[in-house]
Amino acid sequence: MTASDSYDFVVIGAGAAGCVLANRLSASQGRSSVLLLEAGGKDVSPWIHIPLGYGKHFTNPAVNWLYSSEPQAGAGNRRILQPRGKVLGGSTSINGLLYIRGQHEDYDRWRDLGNAGWGYADVLPYFRKSENQQRGADEYHGAEGPLWVSDVSEPHPLCDAYLAAAVECGYRHNPDFNGATQEGFGYNQWTLRKGLRSSAATAFLRPARRRANLRVITRAHATRILFRGTRATGVEYLRDGIRASATARAEVLVAGGSFNSPQLLQLSGVGPASLSQRFGIGVVADLPGVGMNLQDHYTGRIVYECSEPLRSTMSWEVFRRAWSPRCASPFCARGSSPWARRMRRDSFVPTPRPRLRTSRPAYRPSAPTKRGTSYTDFPALRCRCGCCGPRAAAASRSIAPIRWRRLRSRPTTSRPKRIARSCWRG
Ligand SMILES: Cc1cc2nc3c(=O)[nH]c(=O)nc-3n(C[C@H](O)[C@H](O)[C@H](O)COP(=O)(O)OP(=O)(O)OC[C@H]3O[C@@H](n4cnc5c(N)ncnc54)[C@H](O)[C@@H]3O)c2cc1C
Repeated sequence: MTASDSYDFVVIGAGAAGCVLANRLSASQGRSSVLLLEAGGKDVSPWIHIPLGYGKHFTNPAVNWLYSSEPQAGAGNRRILQPRGKVLGGSTSINGLLYIRGQHEDYDRWRDLGNAGWGYADVLPYFRKSENQQRGADEYHGAEGPLWVSDVSEPHPLCDAYLAAAVECGYRHNPDFNGATQEGFGYNQWTLRKGLRSSAATAFLRPARRRANLRVITRAHATRILFRGTRATGVEYLRDGIRASATARAEVLVAGGSFNSPQLLQLSGVGPASLSQRFGIGVVADLPGVGMNLQDHYTGRIVYECSEPLRSTMSWEVFRRAWSPRCASPFCARGSSPWARRMRRDSFVPTPRPRLRTSRPAYRPSAPTKRGTSYTDFPALRCRCGCCGPRAAAASRSIAPIRWRRLRSRPTTSRPKRIARSCWRG
């Protein structure tokens, strides 16, 4: 093991949370030193920054942890792919770019459960502070933050028709899902900056990289939080097969995402004591809730074949052409391309709270898809029905019970992953 370096703050994971923490801690506390550890590499792939490239990274182990669930009885016994970013920017470097906050009620419920400071009125100033809203500042939005939020630049005729039909049926049009309410139909906004992805890394980390008090180490996989008693004092990590450690004088901040954070805590002896004991890990704190109660926004996709060969539909052919080198050259030359335009046109929004009466849905394998994606062989319109809020998640469980009994990831050469895999078995 190499000698331990010492910092005021050690942040684990350079995703959405980690990049913001690294930026704010190294700025607002100028004299504090900050270490940011990221298991993945740098965000150098152009496909990270080109919006439509996200389809490329959905199953790319170079930037993705590629977890999957246990076979799910409610979904034809399939394992459900759980992509998670493993690169600077974390999942914000591979995600769908949709800019959508939780509903006001979600935050208020968290506050009412005893989490002071998490009500919507409490978090709104931080949303405003982080946002660079294309439409300008108002009660709900900020225009001076680092995270760019943009409108759809070219509405699509299919989306326009869909939205018009919704209004005709008596549903309200909602031009801003991050404003007063999320109810209604309308276009989404996107975390895009001039047609390119505005990830946590480009928005929050890049401006901070030159600060002398911030050090970022990529390909550094934290394997254990070090404790003195119950006080976290540092982190042990692996880089190029070499074990190293870093000491935190003030705090260790775990920002590894919803799967890896509880996993790292469990590997460090913070979690259900029985689990730690089963794997010979010393118990630091017996906290049965660590790693439990994961709720995800399970979605079902309904694919309609288009009667006309419209451009920019969800067909595989469109993606294949958009990813071709011929499309790449105008992008490099002029800074604009079908990738960015298609991404922005293709997307439209379901109503977040539809009052639908449904019978128990019967699962049927989907229309022909390519490479594990949901793109079709034919020009298609795709509707996604998803449950996004905690209450909706409970409803989705009652329809199709999802239990993430074990998470699996591709084996790597490094030992921590093997420990990680066995720890999830339970
Ligand atoms: C495919 C996909 C599409 C999505 N689409 C959208 C969308 O359209 N809109 C939206 O709002 N949200 C979307 N999300 C969700 C959103 O990206 C996440 O909610 C958000 O990024 C979570 O932030 P986080 O900081 O908790 O974790 P992440 O952003 O996942 O970051 C965690 C980071 O920690 C690193 N890490 C983990 N463990 C360790 C370790 N032991 N040592 C060192 N580093 C570690 C990871 O490599 C990663 O970089 C999507 C997510 C995915 C995967």
